[in-house]
Amino acid sequence: MSRPAKILIDLGALRHNCQLANELSPKSKTMAVIKADAYGHGAVQVARALEDLVPVFGVACIEEALELREAGIDTPIHLLEGAFSKDEIHTAANNNFSLAVVNYEQKKALLDHQFDKLNQQLIKVWLCVDTGMHRLGIQPSEMASSFHELAACSHIQNDIVIATHFACADDLENDFTSEQFRRFQKGMNDLGSQNLSHSVALSLANSAALLGWPKTRAEWNRPGIMLFGSSPFAAPHQEADKLLPVMTFKSGVIALRDIPPGETVGYAATWTAERHSRIATVAIGYGDGYPVHAPTGTPVLINGHRCPLVGRVSMDMITVDATDLPDICLGDEAILWGGSLSSYLSVNEVANCAGTISYELLTRMPRRTPREYLG
Ligand SMILES: *Cc1c(COP(=O)(O)O)cnc(C)c1O
Repeated sequence: MSRPAKILIDLGALRHNCQLANELSPKSKTMAVIKADAYGHGAVQVARALEDLVPVFGVACIEEALELREAGIDTPIHLLEGAFSKDEIHTAANNNFSLAVVNYEQKKALLDHQFDKLNQQLIKVWLCVDTGMHRLGIQPSEMASSFHELAACSHIQNDIVIATHFACADDLENDFTSEQFRRFQKGMNDLGSQNLSHSVALSLANSAALLGWPKTRAEWNRPGIMLFGSSPFAAPHQEADKLLPVMTFKSGVIALRDIPPGETVGYAATWTAERHSRIATVAIGYGDGYPVHAPTGTPVLINGHRCPLVGRVSMDMITVDATDLPDICLGDEAILWGGSLSSYLSVNEVANCAGTISYELLTRMPRRTPREYLG
């Protein structure tokens, strides 16, 4: 038997979540955002599982896009941060990667691109507008002029997408999403008052907006985290609660001991037993992707029962108070997040305990922990 630490990836659940994204907005097209190794789920395997459900994948950089091409995936791919150099524009055009245009420099580089008619494909672009996130994108007041410059360029494809990104869509009470939406519409009105020889498609929604802000659903939606079954919302939500968890992070009990009250557990002796306690040692640690900041009390599912983590997280092990599980045995299963619908611990709950977000926990899973794909 090998060390029991494992990451199980349920590709059936992934497809279910992607179908939900498609069904929520049946007239839209879905760009499945699979940057950061598909949020830690394995980009190639995830792309293969979603190939027949979406027309485009979104990634953060050309290296991520080329990894998919080298694995034989021929679906169009979008580079969400655009091209970082002239070489990348060239490579993108020849590999059917569309490019975000996120600032004036990228726009200029694209317009100035030395285009070789015989050997190159036309470039597909997404013009990004900064409606308040203040991270990437051109100003809404320059939407119309930038659009026309790109549209007039003979080596750019004539179906340009105009996109923006929301800062607060995961907070359904926050008016800022509507404010960003208004700013975007204002830019579109300026554009609409001029004659368009090119077609314009719009893209606004990430997972939170697609699930929770129906007016932001447009020609293209860009869900990421929801594909992996993690709700973007803190509270229960009618649509988000239909998502199925894709990743199960699990290991097993490798040691058991009984300690008297007053004994401490783990590095820095941060936890002291208040009663006769049974401590289960589970073979998982921060070296496997379990968050080092998970405090005492963070739930761990042992044989389907929630038990509290006690003491510090080590590199390869955690300690759990299993006093209330009298039948626990060596080798019993411990689930850190995920599981089955009957006994399930959400990655959001663990992330909350550890003072982080599900996105971070999922994307930084290390190579050491073996992944197994189901379905
Ligand atoms: C990462 C990203 C997304 C996906 O966001 P989720 O919150 O994971 O749905 C969408 N659009 C852009 C521009 C992104 O960078």
